[in-house]
Amino acid sequence: SKATLFDKGARVNINFGDVAGLDEAKVEVMEIVDFLKTPKKYTALGGKIPKGALLIGPPGTGKTLLAKAMAGEAQVPFFSLSGSDFVEMFVGVGASRVRDLFKQAREKAPCIIFIDEIDAIGRARGKNMMMSNDERENTLNQLLVEMDGFGTDLGIIILAATNRPDVLDNALLRPGRFDRQITIDRPDLVGREAIFKVHLLPIKISQTLDVHKLAEQTPGFAGADIANVCNEAALIAARKNKDAVDMSDFQDAIDRVIGGLEKKNKIIL
Ligand code: ATP
Repeated sequence: SKATLFDKGARVNINFGDVAGLDEAKVEVMEIVDFLKTPKKYTALGGKIPKGALLIGPPGTGKTLLAKAMAGEAQVPFFSLSGSDFVEMFVGVGASRVRDLFKQAREKAPCIIFIDEIDAIGRARGKNMMMSNDERENTLNQLLVEMDGFGTDLGIIILAATNRPDVLDNALLRPGRFDRQITIDRPDLVGREAIFKVHLLPIKISQTLDVHKLAEQTPGFAGADIANVCNEAALIAARKNKDAVDMSDFQDAIDRVIGGLEKKNKIIL
């Protein structure tokens, strides 16, 4: 989902319990959470805490959710912006947005800055169709300046998400910038079942609902698609004036979401 233009240092009440599956990614990000909570433990031995990590994976797999959960777990403010917000901006606006964001973040450190769709600003030269190259480069340069401009002792961790790591400018991947990469894949059967369980929590489900079967029927679904199925199923059941959501409602919802995904893919192809 799209991060709003600025989450201006809001506190988040999302934690790792809200993120189903992604066990390997969680282990890696827990380390970063620990840096934020107890930086001295690490710097005491002369180590340098990383500044940034890149979350790599397809749309809707929980990258934004995981970044927010990190802020929730570390109990630090969450700042975010999306690369696509910079598309079609007037000259200079992108760079000044980045500058403002870091200024606010420095005032509230320790904190997390999350940049969704970083490929929109972080593409290597000449590879961006959407934004004028000058403007994109200004924005990217400002981001690099800001990242280099603070010491890790401030406790600012910069996370960025992309599903196109291959197009990123190498400058972003240098040591002291996004030097850690965390891969997030579409969930497997076990992961999908876990995600269903999270999103079924607020829903009144029939006692005969078979969650394992739902996971089996949704190969290729990302977490966002599963969240969508659960919500659709509840709406379908409500329309039929049922007092619990049952398997047939979920079947209809799955069909509907598959239909939507097919449409979306047709447009992309
Ligand atoms: P995009 O690249 O499109 O921004 P994303 O990877 O950042 O996608 P999110 O925005 O984090 O995906 O996921 C959208 C929603 O899907 C989440 O708010 C959550 O409801 C659900 N979701 C995705 N992955 C998971 C998961 N692993 N566990 C629980 N819910 C999930």
